Amino acid sequence: MPILKLQTSIMHYLWGGTDFISNLLGIDNFAQEPFAELWIGAHRQAPCLTYWKGTQIALNQLIRREKDNILGNYTYQKFGKRLPYLLKALDVRQMLSIQVHPNKENAKKGFAKENKRNISLSSPLRNYKDNNHKPEIMLALSDFWLLHGFRSIQEIHDILENTPEFETLKPYFLEKNIQNLYKNIMEMPQEQVNAILNPLLSRLKTKKLYKNSPDYWALLADQQHHKNGDHDRGIFSIYLLNLLNLRQGQAIFQDSGILHAYLEGTNIELMANSDNVLRGGLTPKHISVNALLKNTIFEPLEPQIIRSKQLSETEKVFPTSAQDFELSELEIAENQTHQSDYFHAPDSLLVIEGEIEIFTEQKTQTFKKGEAFFVSADLPYQIFGKTNSKIYKATVPIL
Ligand SMILES: [Zn+2]
Repeated sequence: MPILKLQTSIMHYLWGGTDFISNLLGIDNFAQEPFAELWIGAHRQAPCLTYWKGTQIALNQLIRREKDNILGNYTYQKFGKRLPYLLKALDVRQMLSIQVHPNKENAKKGFAKENKRNISLSSPLRNYKDNNHKPEIMLALSDFWLLHGFRSIQEIHDILENTPEFETLKPYFLEKNIQNLYKNIMEMPQEQVNAILNPLLSRLKTKKLYKNSPDYWALLADQQHHKNGDHDRGIFSIYLLNLLNLRQGQAIFQDSGILHAYLEGTNIELMANSDNVLRGGLTPKHISVNALLKNTIFEPLEPQIIRSKQLSETEKVFPTSAQDFELSELEIAENQTHQSDYFHAPDSLLVIEGEIEIFTEQKTQTFKKGEAFFVSADLPYQIFGKTNSKIYKATVPIL
């Protein structure tokens, strides 16, 4: 099996920025269309296309047909006839919904249950799009802002104490129980939400706000999601979750059950091959409070920036506990060569900067910024830097 050039998929979600992905791909974006996500993978919803024996074929189909040649024994035994991960590049201009992803067991149960109830896969009422979990790692390509897991009990206590408009929320937190507080917020009548947020947001409008304060994002969220005089209850989550500012090159892991939201910036994201998202606000999409409560871990989380590990002169890996995927950054200087492992899982690579040549025993191919390619399992390869280059590689860690 040769190295396959991939035709990536662009998602034009409205929250996307106009420049980063179009620049990466070398597309003129005169119309200033939003380019939110670039997908490199074999997810049923938007698989990459490639050429195989002269015909165009979707990568997921090709994998099903040629699994022995593509997936390798390890990946096939462990994950079946599919690519276990999905690699993306994101450009977040407007904040995304507050969300959580189910663990494998809940995803299996939830998916089966909704199938049984005949809720179609495309129905807006559908919670579980597939039977898979969706842990994810993200690496910042710019200054990046996000919400990630619940703050400490002390911090939540202080926020409730120091925000006069939250006075009526304090009884829900008497026992320092995050679940009780959150459940009450998510289930309170809309009039009560408005009664709390109206005075808060009016007060914020008179303040000078900075991005390192939840107030800044609360006001921005209200501008983006205010509807028919109603304020979005997702705004409360902005105060309850850790507000993080990642520097370029820093990465963080979001396991199942961790409530999170992306606020602003560009990143590389790698996740299990799933589209299971349960939402808690700041979105016009379907919100199921029940499903959200069932899948969220109501414990404080101390955010951990991932410690990367230098594997070789050219490869740095970002280890996580996920078994479905592993993210590496390849930095290859002009005239330098990167050597792959002899045995490896199926690799998907996206060139972010520069131009490279890739060699296998049979063939040499050239790829440049914005292009992506796929290497089947156990095909050793070398990457030569024609210029200084940077590449992100997704693979499956062989344990
Ligand atoms: Zn997510």
